[in-house]
Amino acid sequence: MQALVKAKSEPGLWLQSAPVPEIGPDDVLIKINKTGICGTDIHIWNWDEWAQKTVPVPLITGHEFAGEIVEIGRRVEGLELGQRCSGEGHLIGKTSRQSRAGKFHLDPATRGIGVNEPGAFAQYLRLPAFNVVPLPDDIPDEIGAILDPLGNAVHTALSFDLVGEDVLVTGAGPIGIMAAAVARHVGARHVVITDVNQARLDLAARVADVIPVNVTTQDLAQVESDLKMKEGFDVGLEMSGNQQALDQMVEALVMGGHIALLGIPPGKSPVDWSRIVFKAITIKGVYGREIFETWYKMIAMLQNGLDISGVITHRFPVAEFEQGFAAMKSGQSGKVVLDWT
Ligand code: NAD
Ligand code: ZN
Repeated sequence: MQALVKAKSEPGLWLQSAPVPEIGPDDVLIKINKTGICGTDIHIWNWDEWAQKTVPVPLITGHEFAGEIVEIGRRVEGLELGQRCSGEGHLIGKTSRQSRAGKFHLDPATRGIGVNEPGAFAQYLRLPAFNVVPLPDDIPDEIGAILDPLGNAVHTALSFDLVGEDVLVTGAGPIGIMAAAVARHVGARHVVITDVNQARLDLAARVADVIPVNVTTQDLAQVESDLKMKEGFDVGLEMSGNQQALDQMVEALVMGGHIALLGIPPGKSPVDWSRIVFKAITIKGVYGREIFETWYKMIAMLQNGLDISGVITHRFPVAEFEQGFAAMKSGQSGKVVLDWT
């Protein structure tokens, strides 16, 4: 089969032939139809410090996918050949306290496909049947291929009650835009999204009914006053990993406000703790997706009118993967989807 492989310890990915994976008794084999390119894949392409210490070489990359089941292990129940599916790319252990308590997304032994284990940028993927998420007929493959990042957005956005609340999203990358769309969908009042990149703010406004704010040219306090918000935002969803964005969020929040942090800062990041204490702010770190509650909720919301399809801005056949990665790296794109059929 063809696969996008981190074949050498240097920047780049290589389209190579690789053996079709053999499945075990609890696995399925998935024929991949579409995959999404993630920021993580860009780190792996660039071969930055994180990638060098995390990713074994050679490794088939990629973790955002949709496809169909073409082989089923002998102990697997409840799945059928031909079933369209996406799946959770976090492979969890079963022995930790959290895992045994059913909090699978908090298992410290988690390993990621396309990061630690062979991934989905390939014609075929082996996946534990446990990780498979069947796709209803009304969810197309290209949406199935971005359920992983949509799941990050949904997990973050549903961390706190948003009904009737004023929500600030910092960072209009694909995940921030989808989180803003989710906040709107579940009944937030004002949803303001900030970025320093106007193209991304324009995309956010096209995808969802949100108020884009370019913090390089606009004053967030003025926006709040224009919206007649007296005391600040109730909930902040941090989706940039940028220190200034987090500082700005803490300032813009109401007393007793809530922050869900998904964005990953590049290194240690100083925090004005006294400001957080005196504003009595609750902060929650968010990792991955709740397995499988986030998947359940996001599929239900998609079936109930949540439309994030506009966040996909580029589509390429896999042979043109270099253009796909270039589009992602430009910082001007939304999600980029590769077609493997
Ligand atoms: P992205 O890099 O595409 O988007 C981040 C956006 O933040 C960019 O558009 C950037 O211009 C913007 N930004 C930079 N400085 C800003 C500022 N001062 N104010 C407002 N916005 C600013 O990332 P993404 O793919 O959308 O992912 C969002 C974040 O979530 C990233 O930090 C990513 O690493 C992280 N992430 C975390 C998890 C997790 O499990 N915790 C999973 C996936 C992604
Ligand atoms: Zn991803």
